[in-house]
Amino acid sequence: MNRAIRWAGFVVLLCGAVAGRAVAGLYGDPPDERHAWAVHDDNRPRPPVVTPGAAPGQPPSDAIVLFDGTSLDEWVSDKDGSPCPWRLVDGAMEVVKGKGYIRTKRAFGDCQLHIEWRAPDVIEGAGQGRGNSGVFLMGTYELQVLDSFQNDTYPDGMAGSIYAENPPLVNASRKPGEWQSYDIVFHQPRWENGKLVRPGSITVFQNGVLVQDHWLFEGVSTHRRRTQPKQHESKRPLKLQDHGNPVRFRNIWIREIPDYEGDFTSGPLPYRRPEAIAARRSATAEQVRRSADDLLKAGRKVEGMRRLFESLAYVAAQPSVEDALQLAAQYAAEVKALAADAIEARKDEILGVISDLEYLIRFNIAPGMKPTHDDLRAWAEERGLIKKK
Ligand code: MG
Repeated sequence: MNRAIRWAGFVVLLCGAVAGRAVAGLYGDPPDERHAWAVHDDNRPRPPVVTPGAAPGQPPSDAIVLFDGTSLDEWVSDKDGSPCPWRLVDGAMEVVKGKGYIRTKRAFGDCQLHIEWRAPDVIEGAGQGRGNSGVFLMGTYELQVLDSFQNDTYPDGMAGSIYAENPPLVNASRKPGEWQSYDIVFHQPRWENGKLVRPGSITVFQNGVLVQDHWLFEGVSTHRRRTQPKQHESKRPLKLQDHGNPVRFRNIWIREIPDYEGDFTSGPLPYRRPEAIAARRSATAEQVRRSADDLLKAGRKVEGMRRLFESLAYVAAQPSVEDALQLAAQYAAEVKALAADAIEARKDEILGVISDLEYLIRFNIAPGMKPTHDDLRAWAEERGLIKKK
């Protein structure tokens, strides 16, 4: 007996879940020419699961670790690709004066980058000569590394600056000898047929403090001169600068940012394309339609019908609309013929179908549903299942 009750409870839970799932697709504003998905769309793919680092600054599960304090293997000399000529010391890598820039073996485009650095604790030099290095995104765009703690220099060359272009919003530098962090979000410039269609951008937190707020690159990093954007490969190695000072780096990891430009359906509104949105909506409509057919074939008629309604929100094409109109009319006739206790038992389902039909009419997805809707609604109002409007 107890066991039977437990099973009954389980089945009720399961039905609840299925019913919730079936209407979820017809909940918020529907897809349109600029949105592949409805608001709160339950058919929308789930983002991949990532396990965050155990503590802030630690690499998440999908990061590529470029330096963990034990090996220089991910890096080579930028001059000739020979093994990394910098020093491994106390779990850090240190610039060796005169050995030149280093670069990653792998190449990257848009990315999230975490990197920690430390200016030498013995203060030598002044201005640009003190704790100078640099993080070169794609080997091209320099986020300056400098000891900027009580060390004055031109603002577009201090720590946290985009060198020669933009000073940091604030000076968030720690003392020399103390570890500092950069958390960077970088997007490269986009080109189409040799024309710049969107400048590259960078957002930087230094020691958790915002220092670059979606800065749009004017050109490529250089010294003294203003430059123009230059088209380059879409993936290039990350570089670190040898500026003659023994700056140290540690805990370097990178996450590539998926290229929504290759998708055109889900990036920021200005970069979406109607033809890509239309293709995605068709694919979803087809997929939902197939699952509706499976449910109908399995004899799960109401669920199948509601799933078919859902598919119309993506593409309301014949013969799906015809099928939906027919199923809705059949449904209305069937429930109206039910005995009172059966109606009571199926009350939630009936109200759910009425709300689906309302949605299809309100958003002009299947205006032909109006007679069936009006008929079913009037009947439900008469029976006291639903309040009169
Ligand atoms: Mg530099």
